[in-house]
Amino acid sequence: MDKSPKLVSLDRKDTYCMLSFSDDKSFKLDYVEVRKNCQCAKCKPRQVNEQMKIEFEEEISRMMLVKPKVEQVGNYAIRFEWPTGCSSGIHSFSHLRKISESSGRKV
Ligand SMILES: [Zn+2]
Repeated sequence: MDKSPKLVSLDRKDTYCMLSFSDDKSFKLDYVEVRKNCQCAKCKPRQVNEQMKIEFEEEISRMMLVKPKVEQVGNYAIRFEWPTGCSSGIHSFSHLRKISESSGRKV
């Protein structure tokens, strides 16, 4: 059995989202952090080493990040749909939890 906490709610604000997990922990996470860690076929190859990551993150920081559409995928992930460039990023709950802990703020 997968014991990692499940995402129970995702509340979209203009520049960030609030994520609540099944272990009663909640995080505030900027969309830019989600995008920087996107695992889609387009974005993932750009995070393979530190130098590429820096360039990728700079590019994202320059973009106007608009509120993405989100859609739940099965019982394990959320798909973020960005108006700029990337649309098939599937973020598993455990991946979102990892980003929340490293780049988000606990609330
Ligand atoms: Zn992507």
